[in-house]
Amino acid sequence: MKIEINQFQIESFVDIIQNSHSVVIVPHIGPDGDAIGSCLALTGVLKSLHKEAKIVIPNEFPDFLQWIEGSDSVIDFEKQSKVAKGVFASADTLFCLDFNDFERAGDLKNLLSGFSGTKVMIDHHPGPVADCNLLISYPEISSTCELLFRVVEAGGFLDNLDKAASEAIYTGIMTDTGNFSYNASDPETYRIIAKLLEKGIDKDLIHSNIYHTFSEDRWRLFGHCLKEKMVILHDLRTGYLSLSKEELKQFNYQPGDTEGLVNYPLMVKGIVFCALFMEKDDYVKASFRSKGSFSTNEFSRKHFNGGGHTNASGGSSNLSMTDTIAKFESLLDEYKDELLNSY
Ligand code: 5GP
Ligand code: MN
Repeated sequence: MKIEINQFQIESFVDIIQNSHSVVIVPHIGPDGDAIGSCLALTGVLKSLHKEAKIVIPNEFPDFLQWIEGSDSVIDFEKQSKVAKGVFASADTLFCLDFNDFERAGDLKNLLSGFSGTKVMIDHHPGPVADCNLLISYPEISSTCELLFRVVEAGGFLDNLDKAASEAIYTGIMTDTGNFSYNASDPETYRIIAKLLEKGIDKDLIHSNIYHTFSEDRWRLFGHCLKEKMVILHDLRTGYLSLSKEELKQFNYQPGDTEGLVNYPLMVKGIVFCALFMEKDDYVKASFRSKGSFSTNEFSRKHFNGGGHTNASGGSSNLSMTDTIAKFESLLDEYKDELLNSY
């Protein structure tokens, strides 16, 4: 079914942009390609409309996204909290992109809930809970970048989207669909990509910038994890990986280094559900992926204090790594029928 963006939302978006002077744009914690891409693309559009626009991120983002134009002027709240607070104090409009709950903005959450100007949220995760003046939420759309493109185009701002902003949009669509391997069956996505190509983007170069820029350490970390740490439970159609703090240190872990790693167990024939557990200072970060009908979102919400999409979610555990894995394995029995019948 064709997804139509509500006309009233488009009119509000246009109205809010036209009445704004100084805009602050925020993505979720641990910003990924879709979060950073949508923030940079919106900044480009606003700047071409002669608006002040600044991006404040809750914490740092991976090197492999730092080629996108405008990346160097992003303000990292963890490193520049004073500058970030100044930006919030002088802004009249706030855009929250690629998340739907202020809790997902890390330590920025109080600045978001306390913001007294106009708040807009554009997002594609299910179950929005944030309190905003305008909420544009379409979980059936591949990525926030694709949704933003649709809103920008419908709002009459396509001419304000230049080549650099188009590259940022493409980055988000490509990364959030696992390079067009999931959530990527809507013909409209490809009509949008055709328009991005007409803006002059080099899609092969973007692919190479994102996926072919591993450090040697990063690639060896993947190799180690797959060889030594991958557990495949064929009878439950599930696989999982884990990495301790020690192992991350051994391979000189940098933010973004495990991006994509979680997906590998799904490449084993018959596997429909997989997880990656990563030991952090005071918790274990969990990532879940699935193929087909098994909902990682429900699993993560119910058991790992998290959420996301049907086929890609994240969460956390306050147990030790050993206990987290034991909990995960024991839960699988509960889901056995669902896993075996996943289509
Ligand atoms: P990842 O596993 O790559 O960190 O996240 C996959 C998806 O799940 C993303 O859409 C991300 O926004 C979402 N996600 C990751 N961690 C959490 C979490 O702790 N809470 C919620 N609600 N969503 C999460
Ligand atoms: Mn996204």
